Amino acid sequence: MPHTVVLHVHSVNTIAWAVRTDAREEFTRRLEGLAWRWLDYHHPGLPLASVVNHTLRQDKADVLILGNHGLVVGAETCAGAEALVDEVESRLALAPRSATTSDEDALRSICAGTAYRLPKDPQCHRIAIDPFSRAIATSGSLYPDHVVFLGSGLPVLERVEDFRAPTSRVRPDGLPHPVALLIPGLGCVAREDASDGAEAMLSCLALVTCRLPLTAQVRFLTRDNESALVNWDAERYRQRLTANRGAD
Ligand SMILES: [Zn+2]
Repeated sequence: MPHTVVLHVHSVNTIAWAVRTDAREEFTRRLEGLAWRWLDYHHPGLPLASVVNHTLRQDKADVLILGNHGLVVGAETCAGAEALVDEVESRLALAPRSATTSDEDALRSICAGTAYRLPKDPQCHRIAIDPFSRAIATSGSLYPDHVVFLGSGLPVLERVEDFRAPTSRVRPDGLPHPVALLIPGLGCVAREDASDGAEAMLSCLALVTCRLPLTAQVRFLTRDNESALVNWDAERYRQRLTANRGAD
């Protein structure tokens, strides 16, 4: 982008709109007066940068909504860029569905002796308790960092008895256990070694899914989108850097 300052964020309200296929009119209405453009999902890095470059050659824009990804703004100063992010996020603000309470005592007792624990942010439980959030979370992944930090979708723990069996600490195929599991009606549990990045992505998923209306038509990343992210060397490198701190 030609601007002096370019800011890219995975902000909750923008993502909650940018994963929908039925939101184009709403963007037009809410972002009226801003120089903004919509970009369909492209693999992050060079493929996305090429599309941005091509788009900006045709049209001047200060705000890019990246489908299934997030927001980019350009401005002449840091304060200007930050103000533009705030402006877009407030225009796109969505009220979350009201939270229901989790049963942390029950979750703790389920986790005892297993490779799982409670997540740090109690908001994560919303993903497992709210039926609509749970349906979205188990159907696939919505944006790149979800895939990178949590894997594709999130599994539901069907049988607590299986979970507590001593063999459950090792999967027969030798692959790692899922980073997080949803226990319907009770809440969400995270693997003991879940990174801060994974924890942040669980919180993000809770914040995004509880802002999607029941009528939303959601676009999930395709299998090809996901495998390109999982096998991306640049992303493996970034994951190592962020293993012990929040996601970038
Ligand atoms: Zn990004």
